[in-house]
Amino acid sequence: MTGPPRIVVLAGGVGGSRFVLGVRAALRARGIHDTAAALTVVVNTGDDLWLSGVRLQPDVDSITYALAGVNDTERGWGRSGDSERVNHELQEWGAGWPWFTLGDLDLGTHLARTGWLREGLTPTQVIERMSRRWPLGVRLVPMTDVEVDTIVVLEDGTRLHFQEWWTRHRATLAPAGFDNPGIERARPAPGVTEAIAEADVVLLAPSNPVVSIGPILAVPGVRDALRSTPAAVVGVSPIIGGKVVRGMADVCLTAIGVETSAAAVAAHYGARAGDGLLDAWLIAEEDDALAAEVAGRGIRSLVAPLWMTDAARSAALAEAALGAAGV
Ligand code: GDP
Ligand code: CA
Repeated sequence: MTGPPRIVVLAGGVGGSRFVLGVRAALRARGIHDTAAALTVVVNTGDDLWLSGVRLQPDVDSITYALAGVNDTERGWGRSGDSERVNHELQEWGAGWPWFTLGDLDLGTHLARTGWLREGLTPTQVIERMSRRWPLGVRLVPMTDVEVDTIVVLEDGTRLHFQEWWTRHRATLAPAGFDNPGIERARPAPGVTEAIAEADVVLLAPSNPVVSIGPILAVPGVRDALRSTPAAVVGVSPIIGGKVVRGMADVCLTAIGVETSAAAVAAHYGARAGDGLLDAWLIAEEDDALAAEVAGRGIRSLVAPLWMTDAARSAALAEAALGAAGV
């Protein structure tokens, strides 16, 4: 390999952004300054929705704000120092969702995005334009330019948008399954399959396997691109010691019949040596005992510290993932 490694990361919002920050830091630590030329991030857009006339892209924004350093690290979402004046006014009008807060600065993002979409830009072009405001140090691309939803289907057949299920009901209503209407006509966004084909390594961020990585893999063409790339495909477990670190991946995994364990998630993705996707899988030191089980499925398993509690730990984890691919 000559020049910087070409890296593709598949990512959701919170776990995704922490991991992407780590990969960017690891590249910088290697003396690579033009990290955007080395690092393509393919983001889940299954969470996206229309609300009060504007287009929200929660995972795209989580990653953008985190890379720009303008995210609210305490709350875990949105912009730091945001206010909610417009949101209060929307509530007075009875517009939007009473349980869903739209920050004022955040709304600025949504208005800009919606305006450009209305002018005819594709989501890929909008993200490209939004990436110019701050030096993100990555090439950010949506999984697809087609509108795809993530719907939670309850036992009684009720269908809720993922954002309603999560922000209103805090994932307390047991799902019977998930649906991504629109996915069958989705195509990977421009450059996604090319980036995967030309990569030296593809990293599956420790994001929610069902509602973050799941929709990306369900875009027709992405799975084939991952199976056929000469790059190593390396995943990082979002499950540590049988528990999710943040969020509701445990509830999602249970709904699709996958145990909340690092080994079960690896089995869910499967081995590329078989009919799955992974060449290697990083598990936490707490899950050391599962290494043999993962290896038994034809996936090289590596034990590493998986807690992304600060920038240095996230960078060390990213370095371990790159190392697993020999890049
Ligand atoms: P969302 O789109 O905001 O839900 O975020 P993601 O799907 O990207 O990430 C959620 C997942 O990240 C959850 O399953 C968490 O278990 C995982 N996660 C969060 N923080 C960490 C961490 O520090 N280490 C690891 N290994 N996983 C984490
Ligand atoms: Ca998300």
